[in-house]
Amino acid sequence: MTTPLVFHPIYSQLDLPERHRFPIEKYVGIRDELVRRGVDKARFITPSPVDLSFLTAYYDSNYVNALTTGALDKKAMRRIGFPWSQQLIERTRTAVAGTCLTATLALEQGKALNLTGGYHHAFADFGSGFCLFNDLYLAAKTMQQTPSIDNVLIIDLDVHQGDGTAKLAEDDRDIFTLSIHGEKNFPYRKQLSDIDIGLAKGAEDDEYLGTLEEALTLASRQFQPDAIIYDAGVDVHVNDDLGHLHISTQGVYERDKKVFALADRLGVPIAAVIGGGYQRDIAALVDVHIQLYRAAGVID
Ligand SMILES: [Zn+2]
Repeated sequence: MTTPLVFHPIYSQLDLPERHRFPIEKYVGIRDELVRRGVDKARFITPSPVDLSFLTAYYDSNYVNALTTGALDKKAMRRIGFPWSQQLIERTRTAVAGTCLTATLALEQGKALNLTGGYHHAFADFGSGFCLFNDLYLAAKTMQQTPSIDNVLIIDLDVHQGDGTAKLAEDDRDIFTLSIHGEKNFPYRKQLSDIDIGLAKGAEDDEYLGTLEEALTLASRQFQPDAIIYDAGVDVHVNDDLGHLHISTQGVYERDKKVFALADRLGVPIAAVIGGGYQRDIAALVDVHIQLYRAAGVID
């Protein structure tokens, strides 16, 4: 059985000001690297943009309407961190659809991966930190449309706390949020996940992987998930421009292996997204993101 991979070229199509810190080219870079390592180009499944009605079902409709029509005020756009464009909206709607499609495919095939996703700083009525709409939360809701799926565990290992996800899922007893992040990283005002672990600056592989193992055990004792959504952000890497942790490339690989092993052990489907990762050298950044696909057995 082959693991479904979800990708659209629009993931990397966004005109940004010069020296903008967001590495928008990384998505197509990951696709190209997977192809270079033997993944058939025809294997990537293409999402179509989500309907606005799907967004307004879970989101503040004033926010959805203002953002999608370009009427959101300057301050709110600055908080998001991207200049407004029609392309940004189209890209975002497609990226969010990609994670929801990945969630559906995971239920069918056991495991599926999106080549973008992890917009965990998006709240119900505002966006923040490069996140417009929270695909993790929307993917959990998508999974729950399947009658056999009640409880969804969202594991967020991006270096930044999953604040938007925690807040959105605050009143959902059937969505359990686990975030392991850098305590001194953005967002400085953290929200309350079901389990939060804030690591000190400079944490290395041993501490990180040990903490993860304990957190996964704790989460599976407190909650019986029917499915898992995984944000595999690599801004925990030692060379990351925004993260303050010192995790090696091998450490990222072992981390991702542990998460997939948990899904195996529990016998539940898992949908994974790539999350954050910030390096000017796109090839070096892709090399870290690619660990997720190695850990999932997509490539050697
Ligand atoms: Zn991040």
